[in-house]
Amino acid sequence: MPRKLPALNADNRAFWQGGEQGELLIHHCAACSRYFHPPAPLCPHCASFDVAPEAVSGKGKVLSYTINYQPWTPDLEVPYVVAIIELAEQAGLQFVSNVVGIPVTDVHIDMPVRVSFLNVEDVWLPLFEKDQ
Ligand code: ZN
Repeated sequence: MPRKLPALNADNRAFWQGGEQGELLIHHCAACSRYFHPPAPLCPHCASFDVAPEAVSGKGKVLSYTINYQPWTPDLEVPYVVAIIELAEQAGLQFVSNVVGIPVTDVHIDMPVRVSFLNVEDVWLPLFEKDQ
C-alpha cells in the first residue's frame, strides 16, 4: 500500500524509528509519570520538560475503527481498516493506525491488538495485528 511518510524531527524520531529495534517508543513524563502522544518537548498534562521516549508493551485495543473501500489512488489496495488504538499502558493514550493481518470484517471494538512494524525507507510504521 502506498503511504505518505511522516517528516522526522527531534521530537518524533523515536516514535517513527523505534521499530527498527522492535520497540514502540512513546513519550513519558518523569514529573507526573504519564505517557502522552504525539511526542512533544513538554508534557501536555503538567508542562514539565522532563520528558523522554520510553518503550511500551505494544499491546492495546481497538477503540473505534472504519473500513475504507474507496481506492483513492489507482495503486491503493482496498479494503483496509483505519482504527483508533488505545495502548494498554494508560487510558486515553491513543493514536490512529491500521489493523492488518486479518479479514477487515473480523475487526471489532475492544479487540486486543499488538504492534507490528512496517519498514518503509527510514520509518517503521506502527501497525497493529490481532493479539491472541
Ligand atoms: Zn507531566
